[in-house]
Amino acid sequence: MKFAALIIAAAPLFMAACGNSSGRTPAEKPAPLEVAAFDADSAFSYVARQVAFGPRVPRSEAHSRCASWLESELKRHGADTVIRQEAVADNRQGGTIPVVNLLGRFNQASPKRILLLAHWDTRPVADNDPDPDKRDTPIDGANDGASGTGVLLEIARQLGNKTPAIGVDILLCDAEDSGSHDNDESWAIGTRYWTEHMPYDGGILPEYGILLDMVGGRGARFHREYFSQRNAAAIVDKIWGTAAAIGEADRFLNAIGGAVTDDHLPVNEAGIPCIDIIECYNRQTGSFNPTWHTTADNLDNIDPDALRSAGTTVINVIYNERP
Ligand SMILES: [Zn+2]
Repeated sequence: MKFAALIIAAAPLFMAACGNSSGRTPAEKPAPLEVAAFDADSAFSYVARQVAFGPRVPRSEAHSRCASWLESELKRHGADTVIRQEAVADNRQGGTIPVVNLLGRFNQASPKRILLLAHWDTRPVADNDPDPDKRDTPIDGANDGASGTGVLLEIARQLGNKTPAIGVDILLCDAEDSGSHDNDESWAIGTRYWTEHMPYDGGILPEYGILLDMVGGRGARFHREYFSQRNAAAIVDKIWGTAAAIGEADRFLNAIGGAVTDDHLPVNEAGIPCIDIIECYNRQTGSFNPTWHTTADNLDNIDPDALRSAGTTVINVIYNERP
């Protein structure tokens, strides 16, 4: 994904620390729930497993093998249906890019659904690496790609153990991170393709979507991402309200963060209000985690407690929904 620096410069970085940043009445805070606790060790192992394939760059063998594994994991965890969506898409840079999107549908019979998504592909180049000699190296993508996907695989495992009251569609989307900084349309290619081929007959879309991206950085804190707040403030209120209710306010800060070009944008355009849980205001960089698009985006720099915070918040949101 890409950081839209021009917009962040114009946006207030921090709202009143105790206030609600949307300026509206705070969302009703759900009571903490008795749910199966999110297993951060399991999520971490899912991150490690992805990294072990090697960089999951589209057209690589590691990418192909990881896709098969992700598909089998969604099946193993008891998704009612797993849809493997393959295509060759326009990369908006004068070429093509292969896409393998995987959708696992849990409690498929429920008319009320939500969408969870994370990109699983990794960037082919470490173009932000401080060492110029490393900038052509593909990244491990432990945080950028594997962290959100790892959290969603652990959530899938939990959904298989305990059916939620609503339907949950988990989209592991491809071809997010081969974009060019010159062209906003060149990111999120897989999700863009998915929104053009969604499996929602009768026009009943998921009520909302939650994207998880870069949720495993050391010391990661999650600000209200700018576009999420602009396009889907009520959903941001719901997720951040849940985080506060379960004691995660130290990581889910009630303040506006940067503006990020990411998979939530095409989902919003398709009519599903969608937010991005992402580290988008790092104290050191003013934008993403320092490992972003560098060779340091590896397993050593994953913070299991950040995975836990993101995962436990989302799983509480899921089990707190009623049909
Ligand atoms: Zn990226």
